[in-house]
Amino acid sequence: MCTQTGCRNPLHCIVPPFILENMAKSDNTKVRDFAIKNLAQSAAARATREILAFAPNLLISASPAASRYRLVYDMRGNTSPLPGILKRSEGDPASGDTAVDEAYRYSGNVYDFYKGKYGRNSLDGNGMTLVSSVHYGHSYNNAFWNGSQMSYGDGDGIVFSRFTKSLDVVGHELTHGVVQFTCNLEYSRQPGALNEHFADVFGVLVKQWRMKKPLSRTMIAKMWLIGNDLIVTAPTRKAIRSMSNPGTAYTNDPYLGTDPQPKHMSHYYAGSADSYGVHINSGIPNHAFYLAAKGISGAAWDKPGKIWYKTMLALTRTSDFDDCARASIAMAGSLYGVGGAAQKAVKKAWKTVGVI
Ligand SMILES: [Zn+2]
Repeated sequence: MCTQTGCRNPLHCIVPPFILENMAKSDNTKVRDFAIKNLAQSAAARATREILAFAPNLLISASPAASRYRLVYDMRGNTSPLPGILKRSEGDPASGDTAVDEAYRYSGNVYDFYKGKYGRNSLDGNGMTLVSSVHYGHSYNNAFWNGSQMSYGDGDGIVFSRFTKSLDVVGHELTHGVVQFTCNLEYSRQPGALNEHFADVFGVLVKQWRMKKPLSRTMIAKMWLIGNDLIVTAPTRKAIRSMSNPGTAYTNDPYLGTDPQPKHMSHYYAGSADSYGVHINSGIPNHAFYLAAKGISGAAWDKPGKIWYKTMLALTRTSDFDDCARASIAMAGSLYGVGGAAQKAVKKAWKTVGVI
């Protein structure tokens, strides 16, 4: 369970607690004050979550047409009550508020991606309305899925800008919703790291799918990064996470510290922080997916994405890395041939990261 910093289960935050803890200790008083303020706002978020637990059907509802249906609300700097004031509904013209319009556009991209590529009708497979609230809290450095909806902070403007800015982050958070309605991996230890892993996988895949082709060199460099569009870049930081090279998203950064993600089981984090490393050890399966995608030719959302999507549906609440490896290898075989190139690539990837 993420402690102290706004990510207590079942809130699924994009910025892990260890980053915010570093920011709360910063010498920069502005960064420190915002981080400390985030802690108080997070307590309010948890209270809201408890209120939602009594009325879950309020927000988890099928859309009128049981197809793509988006609602975007404005929290106007408050943290409760969610969802806030309705600013844009499905089919409405642009609101003129960048965060509102990004949340609307990107949640639509995520819906279209899941529907078009994997035949999934929204998060629950049944046309669930995609509810987003923007301008959550003051300079709030996070975005989260609370079990019913998305919420996005505006960021402190020093380390993070607004959290609606990265399509991969929107895809990440909404995928926590898909996980919740499918394998529902518990948010701790290896099942929790897999929960984070699937969110990162489909976050980058929806981003890659939307990138304009042909890809420039800059685009290629960003393909496997999470949150690069919303981080205020500096020589010491480029993203929140890297799937191509976990552990390199930020290095000796004065506010963030150094990216602790391993990319091999030999560096597995065995401590209790971050819900026993859900945002840390996810680097291992993340890197396996990256290697599998590299080993299978074509777009990553095509064969590798389909294998991982079906694997996500096949896992259970307590599945661990080994279960995920075996299920994805079996899935690659059943989809693209036992002993075929795709299955070989998936197997090799899990071996390279030391899971099998
Ligand atoms: Zn997450």
